[in-house]
Amino acid sequence: MQVFKFGGASVKDADAVKNVAEILKKFAGQETIVVVSAMGKVTNGLEELVNAYFNKEGNAESFLQKIKDYHTIILNSLFPNKDHVVYNDIENSFVEINWIIEEEPITNYNQVYDQIVSMGELISTKIISAYLTEVGIKNKWVDARGIIQTDNTYREGKVNYELSEKLINEQFLPTISQNKIVVTQGFIGGTSENFTTTLGREGSDYTAALLAYFVNAESVTIWKDVPGVLNADPKWFKNTKKIDELTYHDAIEFTYYGASVIHPKTIKPLQNKNIPLFVKSFLSPAEKGTLISNSDKRFPIASYIFKINQMLISIQPKDFSFIDEDNLSLIFDEFSRYGVKIHLMQNSAISFSVCIDEDPAKTEPLIIELQQQFKVLYNSGLELLTIRNYDQQTIEKLTENKTILMEQRSRNTLQMVLSNN
Ligand code: ASP
Ligand code: MG
Repeated sequence: MQVFKFGGASVKDADAVKNVAEILKKFAGQETIVVVSAMGKVTNGLEELVNAYFNKEGNAESFLQKIKDYHTIILNSLFPNKDHVVYNDIENSFVEINWIIEEEPITNYNQVYDQIVSMGELISTKIISAYLTEVGIKNKWVDARGIIQTDNTYREGKVNYELSEKLINEQFLPTISQNKIVVTQGFIGGTSENFTTTLGREGSDYTAALLAYFVNAESVTIWKDVPGVLNADPKWFKNTKKIDELTYHDAIEFTYYGASVIHPKTIKPLQNKNIPLFVKSFLSPAEKGTLISNSDKRFPIASYIFKINQMLISIQPKDFSFIDEDNLSLIFDEFSRYGVKIHLMQNSAISFSVCIDEDPAKTEPLIIELQQQFKVLYNSGLELLTIRNYDQQTIEKLTENKTILMEQRSRNTLQMVLSNN
């Protein structure tokens, strides 16, 4: 049994969906779990919709219309027969969103967010499953909320391994053996009260890894618009090189530092069961891609990971006391409470500095809270650059015309917070 994951870019329009079907045709009749993300940038669109609705900006309907139109174009191109049941099915999904936004928001933002944003994956998988059937590829649509069980930490659902495993053994495995190809959603789960949760942005890779873990899959393949894992993101760097093989260890570090090619949570479940992960191009599926496994091949080439929209916060006790364990414990508690992830930290006698993503919804209340007890200074619009296997020449090239505000070096890894000036 194998797991395939197709991300938003691989299903961004009708041609892309046809390409997915071309790939899957070769695997017809083989037990394959197909995990799919929302189409194109639909998740971002749904986020805009949620914000408009929750902040009562009055234009939620127009955001919804935009998302509907986008899917309608894809549907029209894939299903010339307008009486096809898929039209009704997708219309019903939009009606569900409509029902939500017609009422005043009654629960908290994160909960509302998950009920709405999850529709992107529910819709994309319905379209893809119907299209596969249409072109003769037998498959079954499965609702991931019935198999991936989480707690009710909305937007960052924590997976209940025992319960999910039980549901998967009892319900999912028989469905696979009966239907061979099953199509399900990445990124979403369900709670014991039947609410929908999401697993964190870009979480579909994580779903693929979890399902592979539970069913003891032979392998996972993540189909991307790049030839494999590259030593840098082509969005920011020229002359990138593909890495043929990576160890789990390097892959987890690489993604932890922000390489967006795979979600950082993906590696652990695979490593735990020694399941190989292939990262391959959906544009040239015959190419080898990258293999991530338990091999002993370390990758010696310099690799760069670049994160923008960073902020540096410096936290200082108001009474000039030391940054000691008590103060650190207080500070970490607040970061954890507001769900703010620390990318880099450094302390001196009376100051503790951290580099974090700039996300006003989380960082503003955190700063206000910290200001109760500490003097808080911050600097925004920064970049975090991580270089693995660094050398002096690379460092100079990448920091040209930039100011280094904070720096940390280990034997293999150099991290710098930079400002452009
Ligand atoms: N659609 C979700 C997102 O864009 C999940 C994913 O793509 O992995 O964050
Ligand atoms: Mg995505």
